[in-house]
Amino acid sequence: MSIERHIEKVLYSSEVIADRVSQLGFEITSDFSGDSESPVFVGVATGACLFLADLVRRIDRPIAIDFIRAESYGSGTVSSGIPKISFDLKLDIENKHVVLVEDIVDTGNTLNCLIEHLKLKKASSVSVCTLLDKPSRRKVHFKLFGNGKFYSGFECPDDFVVGYGMDFAEQYRNLSYIGVLKPEYYMN
Ligand code: 5GP
Ligand code: MG
Ligand code: MG
Repeated sequence: MSIERHIEKVLYSSEVIADRVSQLGFEITSDFSGDSESPVFVGVATGACLFLADLVRRIDRPIAIDFIRAESYGSGTVSSGIPKISFDLKLDIENKHVVLVEDIVDTGNTLNCLIEHLKLKKASSVSVCTLLDKPSRRKVHFKLFGNGKFYSGFECPDDFVVGYGMDFAEQYRNLSYIGVLKPEYYMN
């Protein structure tokens, strides 16, 4: 059965996403244009996989790419609490500018944990580029450091969204757009 039939409504079409990702790539490229060091783009697995892949192709300068994983969500739609790093970087980021690439910032717990971790690894700065932001749900005010900037694609309504990397119970990451599931698919 087609995956389309599981979706109640589309919030961000693939065209809208592509335009915004281009703008973010342009903005980040120009913000780093004065730096001789190559920044490290760190995708937060698994949700940021499609966003990272599209974003880095819009960065017009040499960069490195790595992945990290922090888990606080179970398989449902409610966070299980304090996140832990469950898969760490391969690259040494000491004295490097890091751009953390996230799918969505909700309570801020995951980012807070990741930023503290990158600080201990002595990154010279940490910026965050998230495709979606749900500021109304914020519980933790994470602190960027070393001139790090916060880039956000869209402010998102307080719905549980899927697609373009984001899952419900590990499904729906392969949608090319972002939407909301029909209620019957949240119940297993
Ligand atoms: P936070 O720690 O900020 O509460 O949550 C961050 C992580 O939870 C996100 O990176 C994402 O993986 C997941 N998350 C938060 N909101 C949503 C949502 O609406 N849909 C999906 N699929 N994942 C979400
Ligand atoms: Mg994520
Ligand atoms: Mg998830």
